[in-house]
Amino acid sequence: MAASAKATGAILLTGATVLFHTESDKVEALRNTDILVRGNKITKIGKGVSPPRGAEIVDCTGKIISPGFVDTHHHLWQTQLKGQHADISLCEYIPAGYWQSHAYRPQDMFWGQLGGAMQAIDAGTTFVLDHAHGNQTNEHANEALKATVASGLRSVFAYSHPPYFTKWDEKTCEMSHDILPKSSMEHIFSLAAQQPFGNGRVQIGFGFDYWFLPKEAIQGIFGSLRQGGVKLFTSHYAKNAVFGTHSSLIHTLQSYNLIKSPSDILLSHATGLTASEEDALRKTQIPVSSTPHTETLMGFGWPVSLNSGINLTLGVDCHTSNTSSIISMARSSLMQSRQKEATEAAKGSRMHFRPAVTVKDAFNAATISGARGVQLGDQIGSIREGKMADLVIFDAQNSPSMSCVAETDPLTAIVMHSDIRDVDAVMIDGIWRKKQGKLCAVQLDSQKNALEWSDVRKKLLASQGDILERQKKLNMEKAGQVLNQMFRIDESKLIK
Ligand SMILES: [Zn+2]
Repeated sequence: MAASAKATGAILLTGATVLFHTESDKVEALRNTDILVRGNKITKIGKGVSPPRGAEIVDCTGKIISPGFVDTHHHLWQTQLKGQHADISLCEYIPAGYWQSHAYRPQDMFWGQLGGAMQAIDAGTTFVLDHAHGNQTNEHANEALKATVASGLRSVFAYSHPPYFTKWDEKTCEMSHDILPKSSMEHIFSLAAQQPFGNGRVQIGFGFDYWFLPKEAIQGIFGSLRQGGVKLFTSHYAKNAVFGTHSSLIHTLQSYNLIKSPSDILLSHATGLTASEEDALRKTQIPVSSTPHTETLMGFGWPVSLNSGINLTLGVDCHTSNTSSIISMARSSLMQSRQKEATEAAKGSRMHFRPAVTVKDAFNAATISGARGVQLGDQIGSIREGKMADLVIFDAQNSPSMSCVAETDPLTAIVMHSDIRDVDAVMIDGIWRKKQGKLCAVQLDSQKNALEWSDVRKKLLASQGDILERQKKLNMEKAGQVLNQMFRIDESKLIK
């Protein structure tokens, strides 16, 4: 069957193994089970479901259906920078990653964002909280948002304005002091008033990292954005000997009275915190996005463990340095949680008979906990009648790595043994976005023809070539000096 991004009346998935969350978040494997999708919702789960007239019937024998994966921290725009960040730490990443939207034109944002979203969907991700910090101009933001909508992803576009540069060339790097330009703020309010986009899939959030602003200014920004309809707020929160040493974001949020219940603020990383900060995270249950790959690759320190008592969700962060697979994040998080637990026990010359953290904990962080963390727990994150049809189908039958475990323990098969190649199909909002192992074509508003992945790839490579040329003209040493001043970095602590 040809790949199609068209909405259909009804789709019946038959004979699958369905990973079903119970009321207490246990995961049961329902064998030989059908799922009926009508419009954008799951309307029936059961055996022998009769297909409505004209329904598309998909035989899922030998396949495992999982809820779509929820990614709570990702910078989708950065695709053209892939390959530039695998061997650097956070010190270099900030100028070489975060600030590089300086080298992007608005059209580059479109292709980078579309590539990032398609890469996520390919890996089974159906929702991304996009910390969208590449918005040098309003036009950059418009292009990124347009690409998210075109991709078919469900997303909160957490609009963020990066620091920008009045001058950055071969000789100098000068940062603007206007960190939240009026035109950007007006743009956010205007988009929030127009939301949702993409048939309800895409909402407007706010990405904010400027906690050095005065208390009244921050309270004013949050208050007015909430009133303006902004759904979700997100912020980076990482500390180590060099970064973020002089602030305690969770205590700031508490003392500024910014935390609501349930929280509409989600914090990323929460690495390197004091015991008192970790306690405050447990007490408030403010959701945290752990991004084990970037946290490890870039030297953030130990990622938060799955059994820490902190309200943990998972994110990819930078697909420039690592995979976009949330299942890979779940697996890494599980392994690091166990390593931390074992290291603690070893300090007392002891060992756990059985590890405390389980495959189910990792899976739930990738699905239902992530959904609750972005306040969509009643709509996505588990397979339930009445919930949105955001589904991932694994072709367990044709996967050598999943064989002999898919049959006995489907949950473990996915968390520990699956790979992106095993993601046979992805449905978001009742629409196929990947089918028969291949991404479906995307439809752009402005073009009649749909774009296949091969077309998007050509555009990405052309855009990457332009960006690489512009990057050659940026003095990175000067940018490093700006960073050191900005974060008041004690250079004697940097091992070079
Ligand atoms: Zn980040």
